[in-house]
Amino acid sequence: MRHFDYARAGSAQQAVAAHGSDREVSFLAGGTTLLDLVKLDVMQPHKIVDINGVALDKIERLDDGRLRIGAMVTNTALARDQRVVDDYAVLSQALLAGASTQLRNKATTGGNVMQRVRCPYFRDGVSDCNKREPGSGCAAIGGVNRSVHAVLGTSDDCIASHPSDMCVAMIAIGATVEVQGPEGAREIDFADFHLLPGDTPAREHALEPGELITHVILDAPLEGSRSAYLKLRDRQSYQFALASSAVIVQMDGNTIREARVAMGGVGTKPWRAPEVEAALKGRPASEKLFAEAAKLAFENAIAYAHNGYKIPLGQQAIVRNLSDLTAA
Ligand SMILES: Cc1cc2nc3c(=O)[nH]c(=O)nc-3n(C[C@H](O)[C@H](O)[C@H](O)COP(=O)(O)OP(=O)(O)OC[C@H]3O[C@@H](n4cnc5c(N)ncnc54)[C@H](O)[C@@H]3O)c2cc1C
Ligand code: SF4
Repeated sequence: MRHFDYARAGSAQQAVAAHGSDREVSFLAGGTTLLDLVKLDVMQPHKIVDINGVALDKIERLDDGRLRIGAMVTNTALARDQRVVDDYAVLSQALLAGASTQLRNKATTGGNVMQRVRCPYFRDGVSDCNKREPGSGCAAIGGVNRSVHAVLGTSDDCIASHPSDMCVAMIAIGATVEVQGPEGAREIDFADFHLLPGDTPAREHALEPGELITHVILDAPLEGSRSAYLKLRDRQSYQFALASSAVIVQMDGNTIREARVAMGGVGTKPWRAPEVEAALKGRPASEKLFAEAAKLAFENAIAYAHNGYKIPLGQQAIVRNLSDLTAA
């Protein structure tokens, strides 16, 4: 077993100071990703800064109608919060579709945003993996790439799909990430937070070393909108998405006034689909329109040896979600 130092922070300032911009130091929140990967020897921090004593467990409505979520709010607390259930059903449903009850009770908002990919070649600690060991290659491209590998946003260096359900709902809603770091506080647009792999797949997000996520702020809900999350997977519980969709619609009778569409399981980051949204806006709802619009999301998709089925499955996740939401 590797030795690591342990520090417990009582405030965000203490956490940032204890971290000290060192790339080999990790914050510990719920531990449901970090402790797994430390045990597998995939992550090897020489110091762990425990943030469970930092008071970031509140959800508050801001004066401008946005909802500010502390980074330590658990996935269960967020999914069950009445403001989330009422105004952001898509987020509540996405959270409840993830992991298991026990995991959701431990997993936090900040940790979920920062969770690592589920690619088996990343997690086995020995295969060629540019994300774990830059320059070593990508075993998934010529290997088995059926379930946790993407068809959108991939590169010659990495094709792992982003695993989060929560983040798919957040990118559809629109959000801002508040961070505190050695250089002070700053905000990052949620759409810019997760990075495409390109030729640097080890760089997964926009945080600088030592920066702590303190809050995620959801945009104000679209007035009178309906929303839902649809997750398609190998089994109906305790399984990552093969393809999923987060959809928010505002209707005028049978006409779609506004639409927000995002996808999970198919992209290397939580994937918003503005081309689908533009095709829906101002048009009467129909299965034909949904099918035409959903196709646009996959125009630049690349199928690998075993995951080509995700292209029609991803389209179906959008079509079915839109049909159900607009049927009422
Ligand atoms: C068996 C299993 C099944 C799962 N199924 C699903 C699923 O279906 N859908 C899904 O979306 N997820 C799923 N997950 C993933 C789960 O949602 C994440 O593990 C969890 O959300 C991570 O949160 P945490 O608080 O436990 O993070 P931790 O494990 O504590 O931390 C994860 C990473 O984030 C960093 N970090 C944590 N908090 C902060 C912060 N505030 N600022 C900066 N960095 C931070 C840590 O340093 C670490 O690198 C599953 C996990 C397991 C183990
Ligand atoms: S897909 Fe990405 S995470 Fe998986 S082996 Fe290739 S480089 Fe590593």
